[in-house]
Amino acid sequence: LLKVEQLRKAFGSHEVLRGIDMQVNRGDVTCIVGPSGSGKSTLLRCLNHLEKPTGGAVFLMGEPVGLRWKGARLHEMSFNELARQRQRMGMVFQGFHLFPHKTALENVIEAPIVVKGIARAQAVDEAMALLDKVGMKDRAHYYPAQLSGGQQQRTAIARSLAMKPDLMLFDEPTSALDPELVGEVLATMRQLAQEGMTMVVVTHEMGFARDVADHLIFMDGGVIVEEGTPAEVLKAPRHDRTRAFLSRVL
Ligand code: ATP
Ligand code: MG
Repeated sequence: LLKVEQLRKAFGSHEVLRGIDMQVNRGDVTCIVGPSGSGKSTLLRCLNHLEKPTGGAVFLMGEPVGLRWKGARLHEMSFNELARQRQRMGMVFQGFHLFPHKTALENVIEAPIVVKGIARAQAVDEAMALLDKVGMKDRAHYYPAQLSGGQQQRTAIARSLAMKPDLMLFDEPTSALDPELVGEVLATMRQLAQEGMTMVVVTHEMGFARDVADHLIFMDGGVIVEEGTPAEVLKAPRHDRTRAFLSRVL
């Protein structure tokens, strides 16, 4: 579904991603862990071209993300083409980023109506089903300020799902939450994984990574230091840097 080849990203002379190769198959849950500043967020943002790579490429179902072929050369996509491609990748961030002046329901129906041109009644039906799925049906008419962080984050997940993405990207979706609210968001993500959603998750929640990930990637200094099944990486890390990181977080 997703293929990353020799991806590089530099900010000025500071090279943050130094040749990342990865592949995500349909239905896979890939968790990315690593120390602060190792380039995890930058990698995720490069996957949907929120950040423009300085080298290498990302392919979504074989199509280069953010770029298109013109003859034998790749050029930047138009804004509209990129927007269409981005719709296929839902993204949930650490902060909740809901529209504050819209209710949970209005947040979820916004993009399907405005971007996809779906009729309001249908958008509402689909949104209510999604809000039900994330356990937010009874709060559908609340505004973000009236919701807990966990409820806001579950609404943000429903909002992403409303665009029917092929894959979901999560950047530390629980790290801004009070500890007692983390579990409900992880449970929602776990359910999504069980339903077969393809997910790439940057997280510090090692329990989630161990139980849910098909593939675990440890990044440090802009490279993938180690990867494999969670059992392989967590139980028998081969590299000192992985061992040092794991001894701090486990
Ligand atoms: P954390 O666990 O703290 O979220 P991270 O692994 O997500 O860390 P990134 O946010 O990807 O790390 O940042 C990697 C490096 O890139 C950092 O040194 C950061 O300062 C730098 N960086 C990120 N975004 C920019 C930017 N827009 N301009 C300049 N430098 C940036
Ligand atoms: Mg980050």
